[in-house]
Amino acid sequence: MLIQELLDIYTACTLCPRACGVDRTKGETGYCRLPADIVMDCALAHHGEEPPLSGTCGAGTIFLSSCNLGCVFCQNYQISHGTRGRSLSVLQLARVMLDLQKTGCHNIEPVTPTPQMPLIMEALCMARAQGLTVPLVYNCGGYENPDVVRMLDGMVDIYLPDFKYGLEEDAVLFADAPGYPRFALESIREMVHQVGDDLKIENGVASGGIIVRHLVMPGRLDNSREVLRMLKDISTNIPVSLMSQYTPTPKVKSHPQLGRRLTSAEYQSMVDFALDLGFENLFIQEVNTFELTPDFGSDDPFGNKT
Ligand code: SF4
Repeated sequence: MLIQELLDIYTACTLCPRACGVDRTKGETGYCRLPADIVMDCALAHHGEEPPLSGTCGAGTIFLSSCNLGCVFCQNYQISHGTRGRSLSVLQLARVMLDLQKTGCHNIEPVTPTPQMPLIMEALCMARAQGLTVPLVYNCGGYENPDVVRMLDGMVDIYLPDFKYGLEEDAVLFADAPGYPRFALESIREMVHQVGDDLKIENGVASGGIIVRHLVMPGRLDNSREVLRMLKDISTNIPVSLMSQYTPTPKVKSHPQLGRRLTSAEYQSMVDFALDLGFENLFIQEVNTFELTPDFGSDDPFGNKT
């Protein structure tokens, strides 16, 4: 894939299913409110990802500002609901990637890359040319344009998509994201086509493949069941990370369903449901074992203490 073909998408943006059609190179902005620039919040070694991603030295996370989803309960809202951040050149982002590798990170993991993907890929190519060898982890929200995902073939080593909504009503109500279930399904199908339906491990850390994440929400178990049923249509071999850490953010503190944490019984019922469907490669958390913090504090949701 020529980087220029990716960059051209900015001129009538269809990077995600919202297909705003704006020319971001001329300063127009769409739903995500991002220009055709790289806007980064921070980059750090993250020890709280799934163990094959965090390894012993951490995942090389690059937290990008804004998001193409509008999840009302977003656990990462301090970063995803705003567009503030450091504006970086492609060269500067390539340096960030190389610095993360230098500090020992096992991979480079842009978080919410979708609205900024073309410039991230340009930076990746630049960093590869300058000695970046660790895998690229594409940690996206699942509201993807499948045609754009097809363009990433050969550039992404590990896909880490969310599959948040199996029910259209939940996608619209909670994320203002019409069509989410079918866009996520088709995009994940394409990801599996590119990298397979498993996770390749070398020397104890992931080197390729896919993990699909699903945040189980309180009172929305029908949504979770539908996600798993849809995923089963692709393959039950796909590693699934069932996340239990849902924490009500200030925006939803008084929401009738989203205003509380998940119970152990709710979470366990989803684990059992996944196992009954035939999923065997599950990443499982304990419920209420940690508090989500903006700076991703020292408690590791997957059980490792940092
Ligand atoms: S990436 Fe942003 S501007 Fe482009 S289609 Fe999605 S929301 Fe709209």
